[in-house]
Amino acid sequence: MPERIYNFSPGPATLPVEVLQQAAKDVVNYHDKGIGLIEMSHRSKDFIAITDEAESLVRELLNIPQNYKILFLQGGASTQFAMVPMNLLGPGKIGSYLNTGTWAKKSIKEAKIIASAHVAYSSEETKFDHVPSDADYTVDPAAEYLYFVSNNTIYGTQFHTFPKSEKMLVCDMSSDIMSRPFDITPFGLVFAGAQKNMGPAGATLVIVREDLLDRVPENVPTMFRYKTHADKGSMFNTPPCFAIYVIGLVCKWLKANGGLPAIEKINKEKAAILYEAIDGTDFYRGHARKDSRSLMNVTFNLPTPELEAKFVQEGSKLGLDGLKGHRSIGGIRASIYNAFPKQGVIDLVEFMKKFEKTA
Ligand SMILES: *Cc1c(COP(=O)(O)O)cnc(C)c1O
Repeated sequence: MPERIYNFSPGPATLPVEVLQQAAKDVVNYHDKGIGLIEMSHRSKDFIAITDEAESLVRELLNIPQNYKILFLQGGASTQFAMVPMNLLGPGKIGSYLNTGTWAKKSIKEAKIIASAHVAYSSEETKFDHVPSDADYTVDPAAEYLYFVSNNTIYGTQFHTFPKSEKMLVCDMSSDIMSRPFDITPFGLVFAGAQKNMGPAGATLVIVREDLLDRVPENVPTMFRYKTHADKGSMFNTPPCFAIYVIGLVCKWLKANGGLPAIEKINKEKAAILYEAIDGTDFYRGHARKDSRSLMNVTFNLPTPELEAKFVQEGSKLGLDGLKGHRSIGGIRASIYNAFPKQGVIDLVEFMKKFEKTA
């Protein structure tokens, strides 16, 4: 096994080393067939089997019933900011949004281009340090859906219980999909870019309730209709083959390790170790309000930006890489997705203690 650093990057992010090794092998020679995985036609029997398997593993792990379609699309999560209102709203219709960070804000901007966005709640005034609870806002009665971001990657906040609403939910789960089990039934649509918690960049998972596919207004171009991709099993055009294949491998890895209940338990353990270290001193200050803390992205500050820069630099020398916070809030961010090893969190805490003593 190669010598590996601890990669705290928010995305693209750490993947299981077993997955990387399998992928490396298959890229050159897929299952000893004398052809590399990324050379195969997406219409070949082998590749169709790869897509079918990835889809059924996603369905199984997330417990998605048959009345939801599972799609692998391109254009990143950011394209979904527009595709959601294009397909589910259209001119004159309203989507209600919870503005809990940069990604929510960007999706509101797109919704306003296509249709109408009602911002039911915003935590911007307190630098997006929390997510709301149901009592904190009212959804527009005329809205078609309530849209939220389950985990705010940049600010390190997360919904620990999902909003309860009469409206169907739409959710950007890019940075915590498959980190815990959830019930899909209140959701009309869930999407997630693969590169945080599921695989490499290049594929976006969309889970959409079948009856919504026909809502799309007539003037939406073919490639931007969910129905186009649903009708063709994500094979309307050339799909992101490599990314779909790696998502399948990551799903197999998850399944072999006990599925989502097991990974959720580990995720809680890892985050608890880090938050305990932050709470144990005034030197480190967590950005997120305690009730909103993310299990995926742990954000904190040191007393000065200079110390933060030194922390990032010294950490990186010790193989603790990618700890610099997002430019919009600065500070430190440790992204500890599913595949991030617990030992890396333990090593980070040890480094934090030493750093504080010498600072
Ligand atoms: C990273 C991220 C995005 C953007 O994903 P792209 O695939 O780069 O478009 C959107 N939403 C959330 C929550 C993210 O973490």
